[in-house]
Amino acid sequence: MNSTKTIGIIGGGQLGQMMAISAIYMGHKVVTLDPAANCPASRVSDMIVAPYDDVDALRQLAERCDVLTYEFENVDADGLDTVIKENQLPQGTDLLRISQNRIFEKDFLANKAGVTVAPYKVVTSSLDLENLDFAKNYVLKTATGGYDGHGQVVIKLKEDLERANQLANSTECVLEEFVDFDLEISVIVSGNGEDVTIFSVQENIHRNNILSKTIVPARISAELARKAQEMAVKIAVQLELSGTLCVEMFAAGDDIIVNEIAPRPHNSGHYSIEACDFSQFDTHILGVLGQPLPDIKLHAPAVMLNVLGQHVEKAQDYVQANPSAHLHLYGKEEAKHNRKMGHVTVFSDKPDEVEEFGVEVDW
Ligand code: AMP
Repeated sequence: MNSTKTIGIIGGGQLGQMMAISAIYMGHKVVTLDPAANCPASRVSDMIVAPYDDVDALRQLAERCDVLTYEFENVDADGLDTVIKENQLPQGTDLLRISQNRIFEKDFLANKAGVTVAPYKVVTSSLDLENLDFAKNYVLKTATGGYDGHGQVVIKLKEDLERANQLANSTECVLEEFVDFDLEISVIVSGNGEDVTIFSVQENIHRNNILSKTIVPARISAELARKAQEMAVKIAVQLELSGTLCVEMFAAGDDIIVNEIAPRPHNSGHYSIEACDFSQFDTHILGVLGQPLPDIKLHAPAVMLNVLGQHVEKAQDYVQANPSAHLHLYGKEEAKHNRKMGHVTVFSDKPDEVEEFGVEVDW
């Protein structure tokens, strides 16, 4: 049996790079499609340099590879459908469509997977924002194209309505009730089309809507952690998941509320490279190849810190002072402000003592 495959990855950022590294360890070959010839994955894979929606380039990728995967959800699903051979994209394009549109996503989560989401309604114009009950707070989010808090308006007071109305009249939106959460958490789950395997619950601290620090295991009760993992498994089973998926959630009192899903490895799962016996990238590759999946063991409590453009020097100083910390740099040439340049993982059961690189930075 020839177990060496050629895996095509759409998107050559840090996620594509770390997927490729896992695949290479397992003996596979990797070809990456990315518009930037010097993208992070170019250091570890062959490249097709073209825009993501270039159907000829996608066709070339499909012809050169046994299996295709993607590192991010904004891939041209229709374009992919026209070029892929049967079973060549185990994650499927439906999962892309669900995660590209918050209306489909909420409907899938609430009505098909049957997990708890914040009460929401679809908003097609500012008329849908009339008669809001201001005893509650809300978040208005664009249905498509939003990320890291972009395309969102928090509505707490009548004065917030002007901006919200503008957004509602510019594009289709979802209005969610604002969740007064205790913690933001996420769960990584991987599937091989039949079985799933699940990682520990991660606690996520964002600064300026960008992930700054992940603490594993999350500081929540065993009961809440079980609930969160059960919800992630329910979603994965409903999707007949292949590959890795991240479920982002809020822990609020005794409730777990699902916020969104990302159909790929996720920044909050990077700690798993050192802190688990298999990383989220390993299980992604195993999963898309339909191979058996291991149970995941967390070796010890861990903390991951993101290294943004403005933190690179500090991170380098940090590992000089803490040689047991693992510094990852993705090989991006320009250290732009807020650009994800790398991350650091440290083993620690005192997460509060592990200082973020960015808290004191004046955004
Ligand atoms: P999202 O783009 O949905 O990931 O939202 C970005 C961030 O906005 C989240 O990480 C939360 O901090 C916050 N957020 C999103 N939705 C809500 C909500 N319904 N209630 C409270 N905070 C929210």
